[in-house]
Amino acid sequence: MAQVLDGNRIRDEIKTECRSRIEKVVSRGRAPGLAVVLVGHNPASEIYVRNKVKTSLELGIAGETLTPPESITTAELLAIIEGLNQRPDIDGILVQMPLPPDIDARRIVEAISPAKDVDGLHPLNAGNLVTGRPGPRPCTPAGIVELLKRYRIPIAGKRAVVVGRSDLVGKPMALLLLHENATVTICHSKTPDLPAVCREADILIAAIGRPAMITSAYIQPGATVIDVGINRLDKRADVERIFPLDRFGSAQKLAAFDYKGSLVVGDAHPFEVAECAGAYTPVPGGVGPLTIAMLMSNTIDSAERRLGVC
Ligand code: NAP
Repeated sequence: MAQVLDGNRIRDEIKTECRSRIEKVVSRGRAPGLAVVLVGHNPASEIYVRNKVKTSLELGIAGETLTPPESITTAELLAIIEGLNQRPDIDGILVQMPLPPDIDARRIVEAISPAKDVDGLHPLNAGNLVTGRPGPRPCTPAGIVELLKRYRIPIAGKRAVVVGRSDLVGKPMALLLLHENATVTICHSKTPDLPAVCREADILIAAIGRPAMITSAYIQPGATVIDVGINRLDKRADVERIFPLDRFGSAQKLAAFDYKGSLVVGDAHPFEVAECAGAYTPVPGGVGPLTIAMLMSNTIDSAERRLGVC
């Protein structure tokens, strides 16, 4: 049986470490401060932001949420960011994506002070990542490296295949694995014979956004499979295709769907990854919890730098 890589356990470890780091920051006069900007009413974004703010408050980070309306202009949002850049009590600024289509998201990301860019998406921090200089790293890929290291899964010298090339996950993931001395291949929607490329991977990262796409045909037996995908299914037929009734474990998933009206699945096929991989992250309970933990860690990093805590 494949080993299940428990993201909740690693998240709790990181949170415990965060608590003692926060105590040191507080001893310098104030708690770390995180400002989250949520524009409009995107239901998924509202859940993500609620969880981020809840975790920050639970740890003792001074959280603040700004919720400008959907109608805000790029200039008005830039003014909000500039105000947060100037505030001494704010160490981290996170603008929840996606922004409404009329907002120039690139200008917003570029306006965040690189020192407070806890998502690690500012071009200066992307450059720091490429060149191996210190700086905040994007939370999801940084969390995945933490998970691999804490489970003592070797990275150096291994073949890693990353499916997905977004600025948020795929590209920074590939760079972080490269810095850990993996031999890295990045795949995307134009990659020919994707299953064959994926089967070369000792570590396969799926950051695609396609429910259960990574079947056993993509997995080298014994490989480590990291499933980044968060795909919400809202049709029962789609759930039944992935969780056929004759499979042990399907009934529970279908009951959960019937209760909630939707079900979240990853990019890896839940049964086939469990049968074929050596180790894998489940969805939910794998990569998701790490993203928030690393956001907290990046915020504390920023507070430590700004307050001179060694
Ligand atoms: P994205 O910006 O939509 O990027 C998806 C990538 O997958 C693109 O590079 C795309 O290729 C590639 N792709 C799409 N269909 C493909 C196919 N059939 N074959 C090969 N490659 C394909 O998404 P993202 O922001 O990176 O997120 C990816 C997934 O991770 C989503 O499900 C998202 O919800 C989830 N996510 C989870 C967390 C977490 O905390 N767990 C955090 C962030 C994102 P092209 O570039 O060629 O279009």
